[in-house]
Amino acid sequence: MTGKAARGAEGLIRADLRGIEPYEPIVPLEVLSKRCGIPVEKLIKLDGNENPYGCSPRVKRALAKYAFYHIYPDPLHRQIMKPLEKYAGVGQEHIVAGSGSDELIDLILRLFLEPGDKVINCPPTFGMYPFSTAVCGGRTVTVPRNAKYEVDVGGVKAVIDSRTKVIFIASPNNPTGNATPQKDILKLVETGIIVVMDEAYYEFCGETVVPLVPEYPNLIVLRSFSKWAGLGGLRVGYGIFPSDVAELIRRIKIPYNVNIAAMIAVKESLADKAYLQEKVKAIIAERKRLSDELRKQGLLNPLPSQSNFILCRVVEGDARKIKEWLDKRGIFVRYFAKPRLNNMLRISVGKPEHTDALIGALAKYKGGRDGR
Ligand SMILES: *Cc1c(COP(=O)(O)O)cnc(C)c1O
Repeated sequence: MTGKAARGAEGLIRADLRGIEPYEPIVPLEVLSKRCGIPVEKLIKLDGNENPYGCSPRVKRALAKYAFYHIYPDPLHRQIMKPLEKYAGVGQEHIVAGSGSDELIDLILRLFLEPGDKVINCPPTFGMYPFSTAVCGGRTVTVPRNAKYEVDVGGVKAVIDSRTKVIFIASPNNPTGNATPQKDILKLVETGIIVVMDEAYYEFCGETVVPLVPEYPNLIVLRSFSKWAGLGGLRVGYGIFPSDVAELIRRIKIPYNVNIAAMIAVKESLADKAYLQEKVKAIIAERKRLSDELRKQGLLNPLPSQSNFILCRVVEGDARKIKEWLDKRGIFVRYFAKPRLNNMLRISVGKPEHTDALIGALAKYKGGRDGR
């Protein structure tokens, strides 16, 4: 056997993809259930920033009734463009839908990157930006956020050179929960580099730069139906682009990128906006209660959040041990073994009963520690 054959496909693929780090995905409910021996319906999943109330009941009814699943979906997404235009408040020439905003991150990088071009990433943040940059042949340039997790605008501007093509900023940021002020965003936009503002959590915060998109040739905003509308499993998001960029994104996307179930779900969700916004309100109210309860308890120190999750610093003990303690009791939170997130946990905001169960389990953990 030759060396190449011995290494299998590794030896045949693009050299820059050898040893690429996989994106760390969430674990499915069935697997979690098996691991802890608790039935799926009893699990408390606070690790994926998903909507604990699920999707609008209108979505389920419409999907059950639909008769044409055997027909390919419309590549131009015509049935959702008007509702999206109305919801986002910009003309549909600026809008392109994708299979989650994840797909749009990939399409943006495919459109703008030549091999070796640079993408600026401001961690701690969403893992898809460096992942998709690597898959698209780009290089990630890291400009860490400061101690308060604010974007280091001066630092970003200082590293820009002729190979820099895209800057990604999530606002509110995942996993830190804070939003970036508009004046900072404008300073980045003034550099002329493509600035992608990821507003996956917009509905929990209320701040947006969407109205600015038509005024700038290099500002892009990404939105998602996964978090506020409870459609994570159906994979649908949208981007708001300068109209010429929107046209180019449409040209390079695969035709059937948004499936028919996802399009029906978007249409029904936007027709049931008041219902969904009420659930968003409930989550925002619960965010405050969860934060207050955690602070009172004193085991975890919750950071302020404008999102549907709370990043917490562990005051006493070890974040990984607390995560494992909760795992065994069927309560799942997110633990990161990463710089600037040392000994921290990210907890998605659930229903009031989920908060109660979490606080109860943490009290037992704390009692065990204090008793030792
Ligand atoms: C969850 C999340 C997304 C993913 O959105 P999809 O529409 O489900 O692909 C994008 N950006 C950030 C910051 C997120 O946390």
